[in-house]
Amino acid sequence: MQSDHAAKVMAFLERHRLPPSPQNYTLAYIALNDAGSPMGRAVEAIIAEGYRIKQDEADEIFDRHGGIAIFGSQERNDGELTAHLRHQAIKLGELASSAADATGAFARELSEEAGAFSGDSSNTLSIVARMIEQSLDTQTRLTAAMDEVKALREELEAARHDAQRDELTGLANRRAIDGYLGELAAKGEPRIIALCDIDHFKSVNDRYGHNVGDRVIKLVADTLDDACSPHFVGRWGGEEFIVVIPSGEAAAAVKLLDFARSELADKEFKLRETDEPMGLISFSGGVALATGGAEANAASLRQADQALYRAKAAGRNCILCA
Ligand code: GH3
Ligand code: MG
Ligand code: MG
Repeated sequence: MQSDHAAKVMAFLERHRLPPSPQNYTLAYIALNDAGSPMGRAVEAIIAEGYRIKQDEADEIFDRHGGIAIFGSQERNDGELTAHLRHQAIKLGELASSAADATGAFARELSEEAGAFSGDSSNTLSIVARMIEQSLDTQTRLTAAMDEVKALREELEAARHDAQRDELTGLANRRAIDGYLGELAAKGEPRIIALCDIDHFKSVNDRYGHNVGDRVIKLVADTLDDACSPHFVGRWGGEEFIVVIPSGEAAAAVKLLDFARSELADKEFKLRETDEPMGLISFSGGVALATGGAEANAASLRQADQALYRAKAAGRNCILCA
C-alpha cells in the first residue's frame, strides 16, 4: 500500500532492525537514493560487508555528517548556500517524519476499522484510497526535495572548488596549497616541496605586454601540471609555482621536476598574432624535503627558495636540491 520509495525505506529499516524514527527514515532514504553523498557512503561502508547498521552507528553517522550536512564536507563558511542546504535537509527530515507519522495514523485508523468491521467495506476502501493518495503525494514531495538537495550540493561543491582554484591557471591557489601542506603535516607524512619560477619573465612582459605574459603563465602552468601529474601543483604567486609530492625521495622528485623543466624548454612558443617565435621559455626550481609537523613546512619552503635562488645564480633553466 506504501509508495515504492517508502516501501524500500521500510524494508531497509526492517533489515537493519532500526525503528522508523524520522532520523532513521532520513538516513535510509538518503542511503537508498543518494548513495554518493557522504552519508550514503558512510552507510555503504558498513553494509557493504554484509553487516547490519546498529542504532549507535546510525546515530554516529548522522552526527558526523551534521544530520544535515549530508551534502559535502563540514566546512561552515559557505554562507548562504550552506544555509539553504540545511533548510532543505530539515525539510527533507520533516517530510520523512510526516510520512512515517501518516503511515502510523493510517495503520491505527485501519485497525480500529477492522475492530468495528460490520460487513461494510466502503469506509475501509476510503481510508486505503486516502492512504495511497497521501503516500504518492509524499513520494513526489520527497523526490522533489531530494532533487533540490542534490542540485544544491553540486552547486556548493562547485563553489568550494572555485574557492580553491587560481582563476588564471586553474591550478590550486594559496588557500588550497596551505590546506594540502597542513594536511600532510598533520598526518606526519614526509613531503617534497618544489618552488619553480619562470626565468626572465619580466622581459616577456616588457617585450610582448601583460596579456601575452598571462598566456605564458597559463601555458607554463599546464606544462608543469601535465608533467608532474598526478602530484599536487599550485600557483604560489605571480609567475611562481609549487609542486608538492607526498614522498621522502628527494632524488626522484628532482628527476621529475627536471623532466617538467625539459618539457617546457623543448616547447616552441610563438606569438598568436604574428607567429613570431618568442625564444626560450624556461623555469628554474628549488627542491626541499619536509618531515615534521607544520613548522617543517615553513623551514622547507625557505630551503626550497634558497635552492631556487642558487639555480637562478647557476644560470637558470635548472633544478637544484636543498
Ligand atoms: P628571474 O629569472 O630572476 O626570475 O627573472 P624575472 O624577470 O622572472 O624576475 P621576477 O621573478 O622577479 O619577476 C617576475 C615578474 O612577473 C614581475 C611581475 O611584473 C610579473 N608578474 C607577476 N605576476 C604576473 C601576472 O599575473 N601576469 C603577468 N603578465 N605578469 C606577472
Ligand atoms: Mg618571481
Ligand atoms: Mg621569474
